[in-house]
Amino acid sequence: MKIAILGGGISGCALARMLAADGHNVTVIEKTERAGGLCKSRKYGDFTFDEAGGHILFSKDKEVLQWQIDRAGGEAGTQKTVRNTKIRWHDRWVPYPFENGVGHLTKEANVECMTGYIEAYVERRMGKPCPESFGDWIQWRMGDGFARQFMVPYNEKVWERDLNTMASDWVAGRVPEAPIEDILRSSIGVDTEGYTHQSVFWFPLHGGFEAMVKGTVQDGGFDLQCNIEVQRVEKTAGGFKVNGNDYDLVVNTVPLPQIEGAIQDIPENIRKDIQALKPISLINVMIGVKLDEPMPDLSWIYLPFEEQGPTNRVTYYSNYSKFNAPEGHGCFLAEVTHRGQHRHDDKAWLQSVAAGLENAGILRQEQIVLLEACNNEFAYIDQDLEFAARVARVRKWFDESGYLTFGRFGRYEYHNSDQCIKRAKQVHAHIQQLAKTGDQTPLQLP
Ligand SMILES: Cc1cc2nc3c(=O)[nH]c(=O)nc-3n(C[C@H](O)[C@H](O)[C@H](O)COP(=O)(O)OP(=O)(O)OC[C@H]3O[C@@H](n4cnc5c(N)ncnc54)[C@H](O)[C@@H]3O)c2cc1C
Repeated sequence: MKIAILGGGISGCALARMLAADGHNVTVIEKTERAGGLCKSRKYGDFTFDEAGGHILFSKDKEVLQWQIDRAGGEAGTQKTVRNTKIRWHDRWVPYPFENGVGHLTKEANVECMTGYIEAYVERRMGKPCPESFGDWIQWRMGDGFARQFMVPYNEKVWERDLNTMASDWVAGRVPEAPIEDILRSSIGVDTEGYTHQSVFWFPLHGGFEAMVKGTVQDGGFDLQCNIEVQRVEKTAGGFKVNGNDYDLVVNTVPLPQIEGAIQDIPENIRKDIQALKPISLINVMIGVKLDEPMPDLSWIYLPFEEQGPTNRVTYYSNYSKFNAPEGHGCFLAEVTHRGQHRHDDKAWLQSVAAGLENAGILRQEQIVLLEACNNEFAYIDQDLEFAARVARVRKWFDESGYLTFGRFGRYEYHNSDQCIKRAKQVHAHIQQLAKTGDQTPLQLP
């Protein structure tokens, strides 16, 4: 088949590679100058940075993880790191996840957190149902103390909205529940580990996270057309037209609000739903520093408090690969989410981000030799209370229409790159079936 894939992020490129290996004639159409999307990296002199905040290679799915590592340079071309993540809690470094680090808080905060945790645990055991709103979910799952000491200030910083106006269903599968014995152990000072599936991760030695996308494109067997914006997509008697060219099949991975205007046959009610799918944006502040001592052995840290500035997460990016910074230097990525109120080219604002990091004890401003920023309009999904119903209607229309759509914002699934690749495998299987039988059954993704 002659297949057009809209968008050259990892979703589009991974699927293109799989389809090309079957012998299909595949074209990826990408608006910007190169493939990569949210997985792009960039260089300033001898510094390398990821553009959309710190990215790591990890997956619960061993096959997908190996696929990613192979594309990113194999074992020899990647660095394996034991994750060391912390929360900067006032003047303390608390291991992450916060509940597993509770023993590192002051005694008063430890007791406050544990009292609330046990109360919430008992209420859940007695059948208190999972609440609909994220704000209530935090109380239900973690209790008052953890909510006040970390979960609420941190999440208000990231999501920039009243947490009671956010849905809870997206966190349910994402945040694994630690056994209560582990939390009790942590509370009395015995360290326990949460999120073990993420306890080690990989990163390309050279070229940042984008190396994985480059390895997907290289020898991928498909035609990557860059600097071309998809402007018009329509159905024809025998298939589809994209920008006036004929194809047998179209697969979209472009963020839905950015492609909705181009696809001619979307009904008005679905258009309205798509337009209401708002993203949360991210300014990624890229900081190069001159080191007078080695970087602390940290992977990334979370900053919940206002006095730490607008940053919610800092990646110790030169720890992922020493080639990310020149000799004698280190580099950080500071992530600031926003809803359009910050400008990445506002130098005074960038200085205030750096000042917040100095307050948090992460760097001294006089060490900074490079301070740049990159805005990513589509970074996180705004999970308001209507989101689930709205996105279900949109996905249903696409799945039944013959257009296929997937990807982080192509399907509005809160997915990391490994899950995008897993989805690409599922879409690939669907297209294999379609090519074999011509059977137009709607796409069904688990
Ligand atoms: C802060 C942050 C941290 C993350 N950390 C990790 C991590 O540690 N590990 C991990 O695996 N994943 C991580 N992710 C997730 C990962 O970045 C995404 O899952 C993945 O990059 C999404 O790829 P995609 O191809 O679906 O979408 P995108 O990367 O958004 O690709 C869409 C493409 O469509 C193009 N496009 C837009 N409009 C048009 C048009 N009209 N015509 C043609 N092309 C168009 C865009 O330029 C883009 O290239 C993180 C994401 C964020 C925001």
